[in-house]
Amino acid sequence: MFDSLSDRLSGILDGLTGRGALSDQDVQAALREVRRALIEADVALPVVRSFTESVREKAVGVSTLKAIKPGQQVVKIVHDELVEMLGSDAEPIDLNAAAPVVIMMVGLQGSGKTTTTGKIGLRLQKRQNQKVLMASLDTRRPAAQEQLRQIGEQVDVATLPIIAGQTPVEISARAVQAARLGGYDVVILDTAGRTSIDAELMAEAADIKRAANPHEILLVADSLTGQDAVTLAENFDEAVGVTGIVLTRMDGDGRGGAALSMRSVTGKPVKLIGTGEKMDALEDFHPSRIADRILG
Ligand code: GDP
Repeated sequence: MFDSLSDRLSGILDGLTGRGALSDQDVQAALREVRRALIEADVALPVVRSFTESVREKAVGVSTLKAIKPGQQVVKIVHDELVEMLGSDAEPIDLNAAAPVVIMMVGLQGSGKTTTTGKIGLRLQKRQNQKVLMASLDTRRPAAQEQLRQIGEQVDVATLPIIAGQTPVEISARAVQAARLGGYDVVILDTAGRTSIDAELMAEAADIKRAANPHEILLVADSLTGQDAVTLAENFDEAVGVTGIVLTRMDGDGRGGAALSMRSVTGKPVKLIGTGEKMDALEDFHPSRIADRILG
């Protein structure tokens, strides 16, 4: 097995005690390891570059005379820099708007969008005491609306009754209207995905946005797709303006590179992470835990 990044940094730097301060040269070898670890974690190259540069600025001049070994000091610098780049605090879903608050879910097919819709519905209803209505706007895949209905039944969250033949925009209007009449606090709209980004998908998302006026537009992206997830976020953000990201499959063996690039490339916060197939496998995003995962 490979050593963790922390071990590699300590291995390179901890011997350099007693010389006053780390030099540019001392730090170069350590930075090579940082760069390698980030590339292994599938972090976007420009992000790798700017990250290593800011670590370099802070690591050069680190005292080698202190009780804390230089390697450990640099590990802390890398950790803090990762947290900074990931966005320092977990940002919750924003429900601060007139009821019914509309949350629109977007993303590619298979990213975990419908599952995540159910997870968020459950969380808002159980933990935050919100009355939630979920509606599937996926008229393309015949089973999609039925899938959400079943998930709703499973988590005991209401779903909009299915009426065949309506367009996504019509369903979204009906959902918002039903939520108003039924005294719901939150409506979650699960939009249709595609296998890849296309103009039609983006146009449909824009139409739904216009009709439903969502307060949150959450992009669901598969963390295991690494840099593709980041490109996806950029595209959706350009088309409809994403307010937050949910990264699914964080229980997989990806190293969190998508999370790191996501924030710095798009500027959008990762709000939640999916950590399994079960309906309660949804967690707040904690930058420090992702930083630990990258450091190993
Ligand atoms: P959609 O096409 O985007 O709506 O995707 P689905 O919600 O149907 O999810 C596709 C598959 O991914 C299902 O088998 C889900 O159980 C699974 N899935 C969703 N989120 C996660 C996650 O966070 N971790 C894991 N391991 N599986 C997930």
